[in-house]
Amino acid sequence: MKKIELLSPAGDLERLKIAVRYGADAVYIGGKKFSLRSRASNFDIEDIAEGVKFAKQYGAHIHVTVNMLPHEDDLEGLEAYLKDLERVGVTAVIAASPYIAKCAKRLAPKLEVHVSTQHSSTNSKAVAYWQKQGMDRVVLARELTLAQIQETASKSSLPLEVFIHGGMCISYSGRCTLSNNMTNRDANRGGCAQSCRWQYELYDAGKALHDPADLFSMSSKDLMAAPYIPDLIDAGIASLKIEGRMKSVYYIATLVKTYRMFIDEYYDKGAISAERMNWYRSEFAKAENRPTSCGFYEGMPKVSGHLYDHNRAVVGQEFIGYVWDYDPKRGLAKVEVRNHFRRGENIEVFGPSLTNEPAEITNLYDEEGNLVEVANKPTQILYMELPFAVSRHDMIRKRRNDHEIK
Ligand code: SF4
Repeated sequence: MKKIELLSPAGDLERLKIAVRYGADAVYIGGKKFSLRSRASNFDIEDIAEGVKFAKQYGAHIHVTVNMLPHEDDLEGLEAYLKDLERVGVTAVIAASPYIAKCAKRLAPKLEVHVSTQHSSTNSKAVAYWQKQGMDRVVLARELTLAQIQETASKSSLPLEVFIHGGMCISYSGRCTLSNNMTNRDANRGGCAQSCRWQYELYDAGKALHDPADLFSMSSKDLMAAPYIPDLIDAGIASLKIEGRMKSVYYIATLVKTYRMFIDEYYDKGAISAERMNWYRSEFAKAENRPTSCGFYEGMPKVSGHLYDHNRAVVGQEFIGYVWDYDPKRGLAKVEVRNHFRRGENIEVFGPSLTNEPAEITNLYDEEGNLVEVANKPTQILYMELPFAVSRHDMIRKRRNDHEIK
């Protein structure tokens, strides 16, 4: 049986390679032009070509977002760009503008065209429309319940993609002009300033509705839809998408690894037990820097789906080191420091073929061989004694107590 696709974001080549190494079937990226999230789009055509070549070694695919809603002066260079994407072996472009979608079909026929979620495709008739236009996949709107996704899938023959994790717009996806209004940065041309997450004073007819010290934000909780994955697989959905091209390498590694395990376990065993679901929840929580909810999967989000007073992401300090190498004779891992840690702390190591191997930091050395008590210089290279073998690209994080896992 063909497995459902796990689709990861990546903001640069390092994150693309991590997503592929940690088990993504496909990675979506943005070029420097024609893409939303322009601040997260670091790929020029040479980088895209390198990413495609790398992904192919793992049987993975690269999708490129060409999903801005272009104005006249945004169109220059579009045709050549689409041809370049086809030439370097990109699998699909994700398009929101019908013109860009049609242009890709006409000029670069080897590229699949996936209709962006910006189109708010919310039913099977919309999917049928896009199928008739020759499109290859539709990314459904995030504002659908599980039952609506299932019904749409049951009446559609075009492959469908749905979001399962990541940030949500407080406004209807793609229909927001808050950022345009507040900052003159166009959310539909890649410039969203996330104005919904700012803090506001709230008045009704000049009367403050709350204590001025207690500011108001319109932010949504992030989506975490793992419990619905079995239903999405059974419904015949083609692809499960993680949001977050601006997220860190650690975030991507943690989520891709965990969703990879989740999907594989469901295909192997036919079910995810309640105990295993709890374990997966605790794993997802290790990546998160914002509280999560089920988005629209169970209906219109209620008050509990919003963050009215807690809008900013808290950057976690759990990720402490990136493994560059391992010397089995000396039992020493060459580690790039990412966050503060010290000898005696409990850690766990995870990687493409390692799941939460626990250890205590015993001996730690600098490059001159001096014993180090505290690692507090980001990017410094240290050598960490470990009681088991690790591999390049494994990651080390502080070990949380179970009661700390929400
Ligand atoms: S301002 Fe907020 S709701 Fe509007 S597009 Fe940006 S993230 Fe979405």
